[in-house]
Amino acid sequence: MKRSIVIAGNWKMHKTNSEALQLANQIRMKTTDIQKTRMIICPPFTALSVVYEVIKDSAIHLGAQNMFWEKEGAYTGEISAGMLKSTGADYVIIGHSERRQYFGETDETVNKKVKAALENGLKPIICVGETLEQREENITIQVVGKQIRGAFADIAEEDMQNIIVAYEPIWAIGTGKTATPEQAEEVHAEIRKMVADLFNDTVAESLIIQYGGSVKPENAQSLLSQQDIDGALVGGACLKADSFSSIIHIAEELNK
Ligand code: PEP
Repeated sequence: MKRSIVIAGNWKMHKTNSEALQLANQIRMKTTDIQKTRMIICPPFTALSVVYEVIKDSAIHLGAQNMFWEKEGAYTGEISAGMLKSTGADYVIIGHSERRQYFGETDETVNKKVKAALENGLKPIICVGETLEQREENITIQVVGKQIRGAFADIAEEDMQNIIVAYEPIWAIGTGKTATPEQAEEVHAEIRKMVADLFNDTVAESLIIQYGGSVKPENAQSLLSQQDIDGALVGGACLKADSFSSIIHIAEELNK
């Protein structure tokens, strides 16, 4: 059984509110025919409410790019899961490599955020992936395994249906270098095995595992056709409605 494909766009630190409004509107108009592919857009915090107003009556879901695990308090500059939920967001990206690299996120903080997201009804998109050095040292599977076990520590089996994993080799993010479909598939299949070991085969078989790293219309078909690749987390190519909707339409064809 092939799982239905989920395409998410990570806008990163792009788009003022008026630009976000325009992009969200364009994406909505270009995807009105989509029926089977789950679509998620993740604007910056400042644009969440504005974008929600545009997509609330469409099939597009809203996601955030990060959150803090505490409920509320003296944490200047932080945003809680409850606050995100109140904007209309259903999803939240957690542990993106840029957060791990520039903002000190670790497997422990990722795990705390995953738990807080789930408690507040948000679906986490958990990012994992190795650096180029780690791939060259042949330790990709160990590195990703540690990230997966860390993220899933003390997570209940029934919560697994609300979690998405995104495998994003760091050397492929924003670099124009894409993992080959075979390279990506190998790691995706390993992640599924790890999840089967941590939980069971049923949980592993239904888990959505997205690939991320320079996904664009030109390479989406070959990546999304792989057995264990169930979607894409798209950075650069999601900032233009044309390229993002092309990727979604490629997914929709494969979902048929
Ligand atoms: C990302 O940041 O999640 C990403 C995959 O970016 P890009 O598509 O630009 O490589």
